[in-house]
Amino acid sequence: MIGRFAPSPTGPLHFGSLLAALASYCDMKSQGGLWRLRMEDLDKPREMAGAAQHILQTLEDFGFEWDGEVIYQSQRSDLYQDTLNQLKAKSLVYDCDCSRKEIADSAQHGIDGLVYPGTCRHKAVVKAPHARRVIVDDQPIAFTDAIQGNIQQNLAHDVGDFVLKRADGLFAYQLAVVVDDVEQGVTDIVRGADLLDSTPRQIYLQQRLGYPLPQYAHIPVASNAAGEKLSKQTLAPAINATRASAWLIQALHFLDQQPPQELTAQSPREILKWATQHWDINLVPQQRSIVF
Ligand code: GLU
Repeated sequence: MIGRFAPSPTGPLHFGSLLAALASYCDMKSQGGLWRLRMEDLDKPREMAGAAQHILQTLEDFGFEWDGEVIYQSQRSDLYQDTLNQLKAKSLVYDCDCSRKEIADSAQHGIDGLVYPGTCRHKAVVKAPHARRVIVDDQPIAFTDAIQGNIQQNLAHDVGDFVLKRADGLFAYQLAVVVDDVEQGVTDIVRGADLLDSTPRQIYLQQRLGYPLPQYAHIPVASNAAGEKLSKQTLAPAINATRASAWLIQALHFLDQQPPQELTAQSPREILKWATQHWDINLVPQQRSIVF
C-alpha cells in the first residue's frame, strides 16, 4: 500500500496542509504502507521561491519521514506529454482557442467554475496559442469516499471537456496528478475535501488510460469564519517548528482523533507514533469544511 502527500510550493506549510500531511501519513503508516512525497510545482508563476525547501524542512521538524526520493512535477513534463499523446491517439483530445471571455459569455456554472460548452470540439481551424481539452461523456462517475461517502458526478453536465494542457504550455493539475499517482504506485489518496469535486475528472482519466483506481478519502478542510479554505491567499497562519507538538495536537483534535491530554508534552515524533497507532478514519468528521 502506498500513500502520498503532494503539496504545492506556493507558500510555507500552513495548518490546512499539515492536516493533509498528518491524515495521509497516519492512514498509510497505520497499515504498514509507504508514504511518498511529491512537490506539485507545475505552476511556476504561482510558486514562491524557497517554499519547496521550507515545506520539506517543516515536515522534517514535525517528525514526518517519507519513503524514497521526493519527486518534482516540474521535472516530469515528458511523462505528461506522453500521456497526453496516448489520449490523443484515442481521439479524446482537441485543441481549444477560446478565451476566458468567450467561455464566460456562453457557459453555465457547474460544480467547479464554468462548464465548457464544447465550442471547439468540432472546429476545423484553431488559432495559436491554444489549450488541449479532453472529451468527457454524459455518464455518471460514482465512487465511495472513505470519509465523505458516496459521490456521483456527470462530467458532461457538471464540468464539461476539461483542460489537460494550458495555452501557455503548462500541464494541468488533473493530468499531472493522475500520471504521478499511478507512476508512484499510489493506492490510497488522502487529501483535503476541496479536491473532492476534482476526483471524478481524475477517475475519468484513470479509466480512459486503463490505470488502476486508487481508494479515496477526503478530510474536511480548515476554513475561516467566511467559509474560505485556509491558504496562503486567505492568510492562514504559517505553522512553525518551535510549536510543532501543539500544532500536531490541534490537527489531531480537528480530525477528531481524541489525543489524550498527556500527549501534549511529548515530542512531535512521539505524537506521530501515537497518532499512527490510534488512527481511526471513522472518527474523522464527515464534513467538507470546518471553521478553524
Ligand atoms: N497540490 C495540491 C494542493 O496542495 C494537492 C493535490 C492532491 O493531493 O491531489 O492542494
